[in-house]
Amino acid sequence: MVDVDEVAENIYLIDDQVCSIPKLGGVYLLDEEKKALVDCGPPSSASVVLDGIKKVGVRPEDINYIIVTHIHLDHASGAGVLLEDMPQAQVIVHHKGARHLVKLAELMESATKTQGAQIIAKYGEVIPVEPERMQVVYDDDTIRLSGEQVLNFIDAPGHAPHELCIYEGRNGGIFVGDAVGLYLADGEVLLPCHPPPSFDVEVCINTIQRLMSLNASRLYFAHFGVSNRVQEILQLAIDQIQTYAGMVAEVARENALDGVAERLSAQVMPTLEPIKKMPAVYKLVIEDLLPLGIAGFIHYYQQRYKAELTK
Ligand SMILES: [Zn+2]
Repeated sequence: MVDVDEVAENIYLIDDQVCSIPKLGGVYLLDEEKKALVDCGPPSSASVVLDGIKKVGVRPEDINYIIVTHIHLDHASGAGVLLEDMPQAQVIVHHKGARHLVKLAELMESATKTQGAQIIAKYGEVIPVEPERMQVVYDDDTIRLSGEQVLNFIDAPGHAPHELCIYEGRNGGIFVGDAVGLYLADGEVLLPCHPPPSFDVEVCINTIQRLMSLNASRLYFAHFGVSNRVQEILQLAIDQIQTYAGMVAEVARENALDGVAERLSAQVMPTLEPIKKMPAVYKLVIEDLLPLGIAGFIHYYQQRYKAELTK
């Protein structure tokens, strides 16, 4: 059974049940004269997403846009599969992400190399997106879905260089993708999770500061749900990144990174307690997402001090 919530006027959150886990991955449906999805999940979520769209009363063939916040597999890799049921849809993608969508199979292959063959079992078989079904966007581009709903695209690098945030005018909210971090356990936990090699600490903070300046009414997280505590959460995201960064930067400079992942992990663990009420999410956070997020910081500072040494 698919879980769909109306989270703001004409905006629906479809739980895409990524990795068969509830309340982990979200796809948003904007039901205006023109209809758009924000993110689409992996191929293994396609049937759930289609069911969610129908549950709102929208026909998949009436979807005009699939907007992907960035080209990580859990957000965008299902686009090609969904397009088969959405004959008039165009995929909207950051100009730096388009080439990855055309080569989704290669992206999946490299993920298989680093994460093993179980990734295909987890995410499903991809279908690449044909270039003619793609529309690239740049910072400050807009798309009008109706008289009341205009989307404004925001270049949002840091988590990934090809990340977009999207400001929606009707409710004044921002779709943040993964730019701000993970928002879990109904908002009790915010966790930075920016994997290597593309995470950039400074650029990520700049992006979050820019989001703060927009004075939005709410944030729509891909993982998972909506919050109207906008400035508080954005500030917390910055504070957390600075805390993690401080711990890692200090030892990276002395090339003494041994044990820092364990120390940081031990410090963060108690703050994750509220997620325990969602055992499957908790297991994934502990086993995969927390180590991945910490690795992102370590990789960033390793590269940075390597570069300083060779100057
Ligand atoms: Zn991501």
